[in-house]
Amino acid sequence: IEINTDKNSKLIVKENKLVMAGPCAIESYEQLLETAKFVKSKGANILRGGAYKPRTSPNSFQGLKEEGLEILKAVKKETGMPVITELMDARELDKLYEVADIIQIGSRNMQNFSLLTEVGKQDKPVMLKRGLSSTISEWIGAAEYIAIGGNQKIIMCERGIRTYNDYTRNTLDLAAVPIIQKETGLPIVVDPSHATGVRYLVKPMSIASLAAGADGIMVEVHPDPINALSDGMQSLHFNEFEDLMNSINL
Ligand code: PEP
Ligand code: MN
Repeated sequence: IEINTDKNSKLIVKENKLVMAGPCAIESYEQLLETAKFVKSKGANILRGGAYKPRTSPNSFQGLKEEGLEILKAVKKETGMPVITELMDARELDKLYEVADIIQIGSRNMQNFSLLTEVGKQDKPVMLKRGLSSTISEWIGAAEYIAIGGNQKIIMCERGIRTYNDYTRNTLDLAAVPIIQKETGLPIVVDPSHATGVRYLVKPMSIASLAAGADGIMVEVHPDPINALSDGMQSLHFNEFEDLMNSINL
């Protein structure tokens, strides 16, 4: 996979669709390496994994932080996979910059304008997740905060928004895919893991996202989802990821 920019410094995604896969959180070297090797062997082209985790409760696992970045760096070297990881605080930018090929701005920070401004001043691609309950206009406004600093290498990520629906963690807004493409020209990936919160919905929503024209997907995969330190309910087992990749046939 090649992530490049055109003459207007807009990000262009060559060759394939983006398949970003990996655990919600980096838990250990062994966990990340095993997952990375597996997802790579099935066609994932970017490894995901959070070192800094924005958890709802301060009593939940907060991520391995710097140690997580070290693990990510080691696994990136071992597997040759480009990596994406979340930046929660501009004070961590220098450390994260050394490791990340794509910097993720999470849903909870979509309107953290000082953070957006900081990533707009650096040159790594940024994936901007849609805010928890954000409108598309607010999301585009957030992307403009990044772009205005000079960094046009932005990937938008639809990850569902909060609605009154009670069967899924969020509601996947698939119309956002063609809307973002039409309004911004930016690549957009869909994260069906956070959009649904439920493992069995990840495959059908991935297929639907790609059918709607998404430039890729981001999915959570874990060697042992039941014992995952975060988001186990929505994380795919290895065999389910394999089945997904066979179904989308990229
Ligand atoms: C994530 O992808 O690690 C994450 C925390 O998702 P979101 O910001 O969409 O909730
Ligand atoms: Mn997660």
